[in-house]
Formats: sequence, C-alpha cells, structure tokens
Amino acid sequence: MSLAESVPHKLQSRIDNIIENVAPTPWLNDDQKADYEAKITALLKEKNAVLIAHYYVEDELQALAESTGGYVSDSLDMANFGAKHEAQTLVVCGVRFMGETSKILSPEKTVLMPTLDAECSLDLGCPIDEFSQFCDQYPDHVVVVYANTSVEVKARADWIVTSSNAVQIINHLIAEGKKIIWGPDKHLGQYINNKTGADMILWQGNCVVHDEFKLYELEALMDEYPDAMVLVHPESPEAVIAKADFVGSTKQIIAAGSASDAQTLIIATDHGLFYKMSQQVPNKRLIPAPTGGKSATCKSCAHCPWMAMNTLVNLYETLRDGTNAIEVDEATRQKALIPLNRMLDFSYQQGILTAGDA
Ligand code: SF4
Repeated sequence: MSLAESVPHKLQSRIDNIIENVAPTPWLNDDQKADYEAKITALLKEKNAVLIAHYYVEDELQALAESTGGYVSDSLDMANFGAKHEAQTLVVCGVRFMGETSKILSPEKTVLMPTLDAECSLDLGCPIDEFSQFCDQYPDHVVVVYANTSVEVKARADWIVTSSNAVQIINHLIAEGKKIIWGPDKHLGQYINNKTGADMILWQGNCVVHDEFKLYELEALMDEYPDAMVLVHPESPEAVIAKADFVGSTKQIIAAGSASDAQTLIIATDHGLFYKMSQQVPNKRLIPAPTGGKSATCKSCAHCPWMAMNTLVNLYETLRDGTNAIEVDEATRQKALIPLNRMLDFSYQQGILTAGDA
C-alpha cells in the first residue's frame, strides 16, 4: 500500500473514534436561545467583533451571523470577508482550518473559535510529516492542496484551491505542462482528473460527510422525483457525481439551484446548506440526497459532526472570555500566504472572484 493510501487508512479509526465521542449539542429552549443570542449580540459590539459562519453550522448560528452584520459563506469567502472587515476580532464558527485561513489573511486580528476541537476529516487525514514525505517522492511535481488542510500543509503547497476554482487552476497548470500532486480529498481529485484530463497523483483522504452519499438510494430517490434537479458537491463519490445535473461548491450549488426552473432539488452536501438554500428558493422542495439505506454506514447523516460542535453556548463563552484564539507560527503563515495569494490573484484575474466579493 502506498504512503498516500496507508496514512489516511491508518488514521480512519482515529477519525471514527473522534466522531463517536463528539459531545451532543446542549439542548436549549426558546427563551434560553433568545437569552444567549442577546448576550452574544451585545458582546460582539462591546468587543469590536464580527461573527463569520460557515454554511454547515447550525441554522441559529447562521441566522445570528446575519442579524449581527456578520457573514455566512464558504471557507475562502469567510476568510476574505474577515480580512476586509473593520472589526478587530473575527469569531469564526466552523472548523479549525477555517480559523487558520482567517488568521493567515488577517495576522493583526484576533481570531476566535467557539471550539478548537472542531476538526475536519480531510485535515486530520493529511498530517504534515507524512504528506511532506509523499510530496518529496515526486520532486518534479507541483503540489496542489485543497483549502481543507492545516496551515502547515498549506505552507508545503505550491497552490491552494477551493472547490470553486480547482478545475480552472488545474487547467491552467496543465496548460503550463506541469505534473501535479493533489491532496487531500480523493473524490474531488478524481473529479478534477475526469473533468480536465489531468493525471494527478492523489492523496487518499475523504470527507466523512460527502463520502456517505449512496448511489443506489440516490437512484431510487431520482425515480421517485423524476423532475428533480440533482446537485452534488464534488467531495462525493464518483458514482454519485455521475448522477448529478450540476456539480459544484456550496456557493455554486446555491446559485445553480436558484437559477434553475426545477421545483424540486435533490442536494448532496451537508444539510446545513439548506438554511441558506431555503432563503434563496423558499418555494422549492429541497430534498437531502440519501446517506441511509441498505448500503449505509452513516457516520455523518449528511451533517458534519465537527461543524455541529459550534453552539450558542460555546460561542457565548468564547466571546465572554476571549478564549480559543487561533495562533499560527509566523514563519509558517508567511509560507502558507504565498500559495493562498497565488490562488486569490488567479481567481480575481479569471473573474471567479470579483473586487466586490467579500
Ligand atoms: S463537512 Fe467534510 S470537508 Fe467539511 S469540515 Fe466536515 S469533514 Fe471537513
């Protein structure tokens, strides 16, 4: 078994163990929720802080970010928004690599997270030492990594990409005649290989949420709703992607679902996205793609266990106490900034991002 296969394989049981031990979200009644929301809103003002939430966190956190002048989006957009916002403290509701990306772009700001235990199976499945060893085996290859990685892995990379710009960046590298190593998501890597004709060498990581979408159950659902549009995130298995009417990032899924005439949308991504999606298309029927059924192992049930660790309670405590600050070694940050800026410059030049984007 190669290094690219053996490390994610060995780490799988550790990842499974972490998922099994994630503490349940504290239950709050409506009055308690309103109380926390009021206290958080006041603290955000008092501490010159802004709340930045990922699409996959609980609806109440997304709603609070919106109602307090914060932002809800994907990871790159979150970091971009934080860098441009005047607040001195960025409170990032998401998983750790998102806080780190914000810190890479905003070193002068304090970046807090409700919990530092919120990880990501892609990040956990791609430790820097092993990934670096893997890269060293192919010294003539360009190293391209997905944004869902640690700051150390980003610092080892030549390019960072997101699911919004990965295909364009890989096409650009192919045109330059480059040979490419890809990490960590094997499904996204395979999707890009299929789409661009690239022959990237793939690290074998996966996302515990998207890896769970099931082909046979999806086919049954499509039979039940033959007019539905099927929208799939490219971290999903190849066979599920093959059934999609549209494949794209979270932001692209929202845009495509909104623009389509289809009245029923089957969506293969974390169900946290349904909060934003239903704002955009309140009259459409939104159906989560199946993770259950005969072939299911359902570690995630289409909701990231780490995203679910962000709660009103730990958000309040973090803001109140100023705890859970993201710290990044400055030399590593400087190295990670190079591929990150390379991606941002490319995305602005290609119109994937515009000056008006957060
Ligand atoms: S949904 Fe998947 S890719 Fe996103 S943070 Fe969770 S484990 Fe990572």
